[in-house]
Amino acid sequence: MATMRAVLLRKAHDVRVDEVERPTVTDPGDVLLKVEKTAICGTDLHPYEGRLELEEDVVLGHEFLGTVVEVGAAVTQFEEGDRAVASCVVSCGACYNCRRSRPGQCLGTRIFGLGIVFGSLSGGQAEYVVVPNADLTMRRIDDQGRGNDEDKLFVGDIMATGYEAVRKVMRPGDTVAIVGAGPVGLCAAMAANVLGAGQVAVVDKVAARLKEAEAIGAIGVNASEVDPAEAVQDITEWRGADVVIDAVGHPSALLSACSLVASGGAISIPGVYTEDSIELPFGELYLKGVTIHQGVANIINYMDETLALIAAGKLDPSRFVSHRMPMSEAAEAYRMFEAREATKIVLDPTS
Ligand SMILES: [Zn+2]
Ligand SMILES: [Zn+2]
Repeated sequence: MATMRAVLLRKAHDVRVDEVERPTVTDPGDVLLKVEKTAICGTDLHPYEGRLELEEDVVLGHEFLGTVVEVGAAVTQFEEGDRAVASCVVSCGACYNCRRSRPGQCLGTRIFGLGIVFGSLSGGQAEYVVVPNADLTMRRIDDQGRGNDEDKLFVGDIMATGYEAVRKVMRPGDTVAIVGAGPVGLCAAMAANVLGAGQVAVVDKVAARLKEAEAIGAIGVNASEVDPAEAVQDITEWRGADVVIDAVGHPSALLSACSLVASGGAISIPGVYTEDSIELPFGELYLKGVTIHQGVANIINYMDETLALIAAGKLDPSRFVSHRMPMSEAAEAYRMFEAREATKIVLDPTS
């Protein structure tokens, strides 16, 4: 039995790197990828902190890129040796929602590294990973144009997620307020810039993250020093923000978003919610005519677009990488990421 090293979640807050069986191509649409770069995502904290219960020893991770080493018989877009990035969400391509360009709502949606509930796909924080429906799920990456591997790595999740959250609701010239300067919030701020936002304000309490936001031209709003609603009123002549992005995924962030949004504006929620119900000021939202957009991101709809913008030098999300670590130090990496000591961590599975 061939083995590989992988990041396993034993139980909440207990991550370790161990030898497991190396996966192989079993479906004709599969590709086996030798992983070269893989990242820790905010969503990984749901199982890590025990909010999403996984069976024991799930291989974690859904942001990765690498080289194709084995190809299923039905795969037409990739061959051995190609380098590619995969969408973190796998869809079937054939169901009603997929046919209507809503792959995030695919009736057979699967996500890497999140256990049985999300389709039992082994994760990408490993030396190897099997990518199902490869022709649909992956995009080739090459050295043409600008952008490095880490820029392209994020097209499989945080960059496409932040981009969609903005693109679905924003018009050129809009004021965009982003709640949460984590990786998705920062990617959303970058997307708002490239899509023609007027002003972009980013709300957070972590000074280092606000600095990242300011470095790409956003207005940093430190919620531990000022009232974010007042700050946003100030820069919009008391209208509020045309677009508010909840890039946190916590009810308190959503409440904050409700207080920031302008009449006729929109709240877009790339943050992940697993709560059964949340209290919202619905009468106020009704009177203001606010549109709410949310749901699992339609990553594959935006991979080509974001890769093209990276190649053109207009998106460079790799600038948000704060730490590069060997995969063998995954336990420490998860601890740091949870403690907000790191904005974004990329792991090297070869060391
Ligand atoms: Zn993610
Ligand atoms: Zn489908």
